[in-house]
Amino acid sequence: MNEPFIYLDGEYVPKSKAVVSVFDHGFLYGDGIFEGIRCYSGNVFRLKEHIKRLYESAKSILLDIPMTQEEMSDAVVETLRRNGYADAYIRLVVSRGVGDLGLDPRNCVKPSIIIIAEQLKLFPQEFYEQGLKIVTVPTRRNVPDALNPKIKSLNYLNNVLVKIEAARAGVLEALMLNHEGYVCEGSGDNVFIIKDGKVTTPPTYLGALEGITRNAIIEICENLGIPCEEKPFTRHDVYVADEVFLTGTAAEVIPVVDVDGRVIGDGTPGSMTEMLIREFRKTTTVDGIKIPELVSKAV
Ligand code: PMP
Repeated sequence: MNEPFIYLDGEYVPKSKAVVSVFDHGFLYGDGIFEGIRCYSGNVFRLKEHIKRLYESAKSILLDIPMTQEEMSDAVVETLRRNGYADAYIRLVVSRGVGDLGLDPRNCVKPSIIIIAEQLKLFPQEFYEQGLKIVTVPTRRNVPDALNPKIKSLNYLNNVLVKIEAARAGVLEALMLNHEGYVCEGSGDNVFIIKDGKVTTPPTYLGALEGITRNAIIEICENLGIPCEEKPFTRHDVYVADEVFLTGTAAEVIPVVDVDGRVIGDGTPGSMTEMLIREFRKTTTVDGIKIPELVSKAV
């Protein structure tokens, strides 16, 4: 079998040759940023928005990416094209680069840039049909004035701890609260609640990533005239919501039917959530950057 190609610092190298130094500050210190992007039937969903978020994260941590946003976008497209993947998950990583053991990033000569495309492993259909049971966990979200969760940095220890705590509680995903007890987001997804026909998601200033899927859902609500606001809420508001769902590039829109043992609604995915899943899926092959030869390959 042919090995997949990985973009590594301007070259497309076979997977077995795609290695980075142990002196890379991404490895030593989590010093870098990343994006998770998805390609649907040859359409790279909201690629421009992902690249913009990457460059904003880079600016915030004073990391100069030695490529324009257009060049980065082209590199993502070329990685998919060379691998021939019409449906894929793409991981784009930019680290501070290879330095020495000291913290000082001035010793890192240039950023390391990596683009990995993998053929998509879909989430099991029953997640969407039956909904997820989730919990809230003891680990709190990073406070925004320490390491702002709006920066999609390589520093995901907070999120990893949430994943461990979720697994120990016997569930697949969990919600983090911020230091004041407001609900923020999941380990790798944003959260929405619906009550009396109104859709609400936490404002990102509480400590949450400005998810591309989150923004797509907010836009869908606006276009359909569904009231949708960004407003702080507590665990109690989640427990008594009519519907709850999570959003993310990998997960798309996943209904939640139980939080900390409180059954949400009637314990099955809500009708508004199901409608939003349908509306979201209509946009995934349309909204983005199309790769013509992969579009024609898609089934
Ligand atoms: N929050 C966190 C912490 C995430 O890692 C992700 C996944 N990138 C999200 C939210 C969802 O963001 P998006 O819709 O852009 O994938």
